[in-house]
Formats: sequence, structure tokens, C-alpha cells
Amino acid sequence: MKVNNFIKILGINIDKVTKAEALGIFEGFLEDSSCKQIVTLNPEMLIEAQKNPDFRALLSESELVFPDGVGLVYASKIKGQPLDERVTGIDFTYDALKLLAKKNMTAYFLGAKPGIAEAAARNLEKEIPALKIVGAHDGYFKPEDEAALIEDINASGADMLCLALGAPKQEFFANKYKDKLNCKVAIGIGGSFDVWSGTLKRAPQFYIDHNIEWLYRLMQEPSRIKRIAKLPLFLLKVAVYKE
Ligand code: UDP
Repeated sequence: MKVNNFIKILGINIDKVTKAEALGIFEGFLEDSSCKQIVTLNPEMLIEAQKNPDFRALLSESELVFPDGVGLVYASKIKGQPLDERVTGIDFTYDALKLLAKKNMTAYFLGAKPGIAEAAARNLEKEIPALKIVGAHDGYFKPEDEAALIEDINASGADMLCLALGAPKQEFFANKYKDKLNCKVAIGIGGSFDVWSGTLKRAPQFYIDHNIEWLYRLMQEPSRIKRIAKLPLFLLKVAVYKE
């Protein structure tokens, strides 16, 4: 169920929300008892949705899908329905965690290499007054460990599950366990724990403001070139696709 206005790109409905609106929707999710899935969508995920019907179905079942990344801002311009602003998953989640802390609610961090989720949790707890990250686990577990992991997340009493397993793995994990999770919200946030732990540096504000954060990430992780090289083809597809 979509909760807002949406734009359609490559056949996928994407909620057209500002960060403030997305936070308002998130706050509403916290009032409800069932677990809601939030997806922060980038061009690679849209390309994946073209090839993978299960991923397409997952996106239509997710309660909030908003665009992350400059590629989708360009795509929205091509569609003649420009997005009002770029909402990045990492910025949204940071503000969502602040809101959680204000409400005396808690989060669990699952993902990234061993030790990173814990380090990210401790750093954010220092930065955000009253924030409680009540559990953390790395993202390199085996399928047979998943049941115990779900128990651990539920036992922690966390209201929000932040998943940094990379896309689309994190989205499939949330979708698979949504019905078993006691938390109110599950969100996939890619490499955010790497940034919050201090392992990777977030781009300086200049890069963010000029929509060239991808260039900074490329300089830190040159192997991302393969991913970035797909963007022009993605925009071409958007331009010729008949919705
Ligand atoms: N990761 C993980 N488990 C895996 C594969 C990846 O926890 O099996 C983590 C990885 O350590 C990194 C994050 O997922 O912290 C992926 O970050 P990336 O920026 O590549 O995310 P994407 O842009 O693909 O969503």
C-alpha cells in the first residue's frame, strides 16, 4: 500500500516525499503494531526490479519507497515530474533515530563487517541524546543463523530495525521476516554503518550540495566504477520506457 503521491519510473511506483513528509509517515508507522518496510531506492535497485519479479513484488508490498541518490532525481526530471528534494537513506535514518530517541524508543543495527554496527551504534549514541541502540550484529551470517537472529532482535525490544546488508539483500531480509518481527519499522540503509562507525567518510557538504556525492564515494571505493557506469544506460532506459 502506498501512502502518498508517487511517480512511476520503469514501471515502479516511488513515493514522492520530502524528508519531512517521510519522517511524518515514519512517525505514523511507530504508532502501529505491525512491522512496516521502508525502501530507499537507487537506480541499481530499479534495474534489479526489471530483471527480478520477486523484487518488483517486494517493492509494491513495501509501505514506503522513496528515492535515494541523484540518479533518481535526474530520472524524475526526464519523466517531467521532478522530485522536490533528494532524500538520502542515511540522512533520513539519522533524523528517524533522533525522533526515536525523543519518543524513548529504540533501534537494532544489523549489518556490515564484524564490529562496525557496534561502533556505529556507540558513535550515534554519543551524538544523539537519549538514543538507545539495544542490539547490534554483523551482516555476514548464514541462512541457518537467521532464526536465532530474529529471536535476538525481538528479545532486544527494538522498535526499529536498521539493515545494512547491501541491496537487495537487506530488502529481501526485511520482506521475509516482516511478519515475525516485533519492531514497527525495518529499513535498508546500505553502507550507513560504515560511515557512522568512521570506517568510510561521508562526502563533504560541497559534494552533497552539488549532487556529486557519488564522485566522492568513487574516490574512496574505486571498485564502485562498475556500478556508476550503469547510470547513463539507466537514464536512457527511463527516457524510452513506456509506463
Ligand atoms: N554487507 C553485509 N553483508 C553482506 C554483504 C554486504 O553486511 O553479505 C554490508 C557491507 O559490509 C556494507 C554494506 O553491506 O557495509 C553495503 O554497502 P553498500 O554501500 O555497497 O550498499 P548498497 O549501495 O549496495 O546498498
